[in-house]
Amino acid sequence: MNIHEYQGKAILKSFGVRIQEGIVADNVEQAVEAAKKLKEDFGSDWVVVKAQIHAGGRGKGGGVKLARNIDEVKEKAGAILGMQLVTPQTGPEGKLVSKVLVAQDVYYPGATETKEFYMSVLLDRAAGRNIIMYSTEGGMDIEEVAEHTPHLIFKEEIDPKVGLQAFQARKIAFNLGLSGDAFKDMVKFVAALYKAYDATDSAMFEINPVLKTSDNKILAVDAKVNLDDNALYRHPDFAALRDTAEEDPMEVEASRSNLNYVKLDGNVGCMVNGAGLAMATMDIIKIAGGEPANFLDVGGTANAQTVKAAFNIILKDPNVKAILINIFGGIVRCDRVAQGVIDAYNEIGNIPVPIIVRLQGTNAEEAKKLIDESGLQVKSAILLKEAADRIKEVFAA
Ligand code: GDP
Ligand code: MN
Repeated sequence: MNIHEYQGKAILKSFGVRIQEGIVADNVEQAVEAAKKLKEDFGSDWVVVKAQIHAGGRGKGGGVKLARNIDEVKEKAGAILGMQLVTPQTGPEGKLVSKVLVAQDVYYPGATETKEFYMSVLLDRAAGRNIIMYSTEGGMDIEEVAEHTPHLIFKEEIDPKVGLQAFQARKIAFNLGLSGDAFKDMVKFVAALYKAYDATDSAMFEINPVLKTSDNKILAVDAKVNLDDNALYRHPDFAALRDTAEEDPMEVEASRSNLNYVKLDGNVGCMVNGAGLAMATMDIIKIAGGEPANFLDVGGTANAQTVKAAFNIILKDPNVKAILINIFGGIVRCDRVAQGVIDAYNEIGNIPVPIIVRLQGTNAEEAKKLIDESGLQVKSAILLKEAADRIKEVFAA
């Protein structure tokens, strides 16, 4: 689960990571109040107004702006709030900005005294360990650094038995070219950052840039945090951090019904149990001359309820010309799934596209009989080959 910068920073702060302080605002008045409060706390008129969306590259898209006084806060917050922000990570349609973070300006007195670094903590699947990835080339696109100057990216592996060791934090500060107070502050920063990542069961913490201020303090200017979905049950308070407005509406609806759904561009909707079978089904659709409209794994407990939810989601896609249901009855009995399909079909009523149902496994024959005798416009198949032939018939007709 992705969260906003302001939420990620709040988590970081709670673990003792120094951050660029800020206050989130939903409208211009709140943004002005926030700027006044920041002036009281930090004594400066200058603030940055930062669009809160689940995508990076906001600065490049015009979603991060410096304001030198209250009039500029009004102007910049007014321009950013409500904008459809396009960044290299949003796609051409962009994302609607409904919140801004008004943050203290930490680049005083100028870029010559400050230095930006890159740092992230994530799981390195090849090493099977968490790593801290860091670079002297902060503030820019890390993918570009990786492509053109890979020797400027360092990785520190963390041994899960002992966790981050003090010498590793010092090594990182040293490799970043720091000394004196900045070196000491970076050591603390790294330790606190790793603790925050570890204790929240996160999948990724990316801080770009990490800033060395002109008075040698190290702080997080940005925070891109991805919480591990599989560990969310251990952190019930994180549920409140979810912002479904940032997610694909069909995928949100699917996750509400515990369906694994990914929208694709083809014309054959598919409903399958198990990710592996779903992949094989997509291949079959292609071989039969169609293109899959989606990936949809209904999971292990396909019943009338889940089948109906899956139908509803697939039917919202106007490109769908046929639906292929491919269920292997291992734990779940095929006749129960067939009954689920029939019930869902009757409940939804008039489904405008042909449906091909392929049920294999426990009670497959009974299931086929149920479907064939239901009187519904559903074509049944037991073999995958038959299912492919039914799809071919749909496209030949
Ligand atoms: P991103 O573009 O989505 O990665 O958003 P960031 O939070 O990283 O901000 C983008 C850029 O805005 C940073 O790399 C900085 O160069 C700049 N920026 C962020 N905070 C400040 C600030 O307090 N003062 C100034 N002058 N620039 C800032
Ligand atoms: Mn950034």
